[in-house]
Amino acid sequence: MAVAKKKTTKKKNTAGKVVKRGTVKVVKDKYVPSGSFHVAIPNTPIFDEKGKLCGVTNPRDMTYMHSYGGEAPFFDALAKGVLLGTKCVNPDCEFKGSIYLPYRIHCPDCLSKMKKVTLTGLVKKTARVHTFMITERTGAFNTLKKPIKFINIEFDGVCTILMSYLSVGEPEIGMRVVPIFRTKNPTYTITDLSWVPLGTPKSKLPAGFTF
Ligand SMILES: [Zn+2]
Repeated sequence: MAVAKKKTTKKKNTAGKVVKRGTVKVVKDKYVPSGSFHVAIPNTPIFDEKGKLCGVTNPRDMTYMHSYGGEAPFFDALAKGVLLGTKCVNPDCEFKGSIYLPYRIHCPDCLSKMKKVTLTGLVKKTARVHTFMITERTGAFNTLKKPIKFINIEFDGVCTILMSYLSVGEPEIGMRVVPIFRTKNPTYTITDLSWVPLGTPKSKLPAGFTF
């Protein structure tokens, strides 16, 4: 498995001092943070056309520790080109056998812990666009190519619909799609999973992605 290259972790604070952006290791099952998790960056004034002060910018640099907990296997598998879902195997559950994608840990019907199931083969054979939305306006820190083609995907035998994004072509309701995975320099986030229309050649995939 490819491992993401270290990105720049240095930043200058308000005193002009270079600070090391926070990183985390796990030692004996405990998080061990090092570096700076909050960096105040020099602000700038905002003047109007006549030079009258109107305000200031307030730059903030914060590193957030996002713990995946029981969902970590899902993100780890994406980097290996594997799509994991979960299945309720509780014999007493009224809806035993229900399969969930997105991955969730507990069955919403009986609250028991579900079993991990590999769905890569199933989704390659049955994924269809349920509906879609194309947007030019994104949230803060968007990393996806605009316009973003959000698609909701349905699968045979799966009781949920997955939200993701189409990387090639234009979405249509009912269109057959197949998953692609960022296996080169994975980010270990949900954007490591994307979709393309069935029959898309390997040469059309975005950089770093494989079937
Ligand atoms: Zn259940």
